[in-house]
Amino acid sequence: MSESRSLIQLKPGREKSVRNRHPWVFSGAVGRVRGAPQPGTIVDLLDGAGDFLARGYYNPRSQIAVRLLSWDAAEEINTAWWRQRLQAALARRAALAASGASEAYRLVHAESDGLPGLIVDRYGDWLVLQSLTLGIEPWKPTLAGLLMEMLGPRGIYERSDADVRAQEGLPPATGLLAGAEPPQELVIRENGLRFQVDILHGHKTGFYLDQRENRRKVAPYCVGREVLNAFSYTGAFAVYAASQGAKGITNLDSSAEALRMAAQNLRLNGLERDSDQYIEGDAFQVLRRFRDQGTQFDLIILDPPKFAFSRAQLLAATRGYKDINLLAMRLLRPGGILCTFSCSGLVSEDLFQKVLFGASVDAGREVRILERLGQGSDHPVLLTFPESAYLKGFICRVEP
Ligand code: SAH
Repeated sequence: MSESRSLIQLKPGREKSVRNRHPWVFSGAVGRVRGAPQPGTIVDLLDGAGDFLARGYYNPRSQIAVRLLSWDAAEEINTAWWRQRLQAALARRAALAASGASEAYRLVHAESDGLPGLIVDRYGDWLVLQSLTLGIEPWKPTLAGLLMEMLGPRGIYERSDADVRAQEGLPPATGLLAGAEPPQELVIRENGLRFQVDILHGHKTGFYLDQRENRRKVAPYCVGREVLNAFSYTGAFAVYAASQGAKGITNLDSSAEALRMAAQNLRLNGLERDSDQYIEGDAFQVLRRFRDQGTQFDLIILDPPKFAFSRAQLLAATRGYKDINLLAMRLLRPGGILCTFSCSGLVSEDLFQKVLFGASVDAGREVRILERLGQGSDHPVLLTFPESAYLKGFICRVEP
């Protein structure tokens, strides 16, 4: 243990989750702070008796006072340590990279890869880095250097503009970290299809990489069906649906820019048709309008944004999920397919299934789950950190 390192001692009886390798230490569990740890620096965590438990980075402004990086007292957090953790993360994606099926996927999934607060996504020759915590901030140049050395991308762009940074006392940060500036019109290949991704301004780091495998699984259900792609973003599900010969596709999103890119993505794949529809609006209102007009579909995709950001919002979130799913069930022709998702980590798969049950009862429909879906393998769920499971979905058959 280095003499100069500050020490954070837990309140007695609060060490269990740390011993179970959960990477978060909440401020309420912190007893004594010894030394004067600078926010964002490395500290040692001690148990109530004063013995070493783990090492991590400190942020007194955050509710998560320490994020743990290592449980080994001999392990220094230095460049070699970050290199080894990045290498392990890359090794976990080696099969995905070797398959060549997609050139866009997540390389580092934060806590689940033993790298709390750090996201790295690959988009072809470019990497996008997202720092979500104060503790990652001082390491950004080191991380960019290591990633350039290990992967040789053309450039690394930073998209640290997620709202959660505010909870760490951090302003948004975006811009070039290394190499060349990425083009605004970057095209990536995913499962044989092409997508334009705006890594400078798009949602998250540009694309919903977590839905890659689900897009592939939903595609075969679209054959010959009239599809409503609600919460379409840049039309990724629509491109898969069109590639399978969907009968017609309606993209619905509140963002005009997302819809413009959806049209472009269909064109990029030579899959655009005159019958394609683009509706800019609030999905809750548009689905009600469809109900009132008697508009029907054979397959509906519901991939809304996160509804629950805190436990206090959970009830409102479940109401939102029930409302939108009930509406969708009623818009489906007999035997129609509902592909429905929730990316709210606080809504468990079990709870989401119960919400669908409630919606089916109120809609007067008999609903069968055909497939259960989750986040892609490049967004792994670490068992010691169940919070890393956030995306769940169901492919259902809906009958009168
Ligand atoms: N399925 C997409 C990702 C969807 S992300 C994909 O695979 O790429 C959620 C989308 O919902 C965003 O594009 C956002 O603009 C849109 N959105 C958010 N609130 C909305 C609302 N009330 N009505 C319609 N669209 C909404």
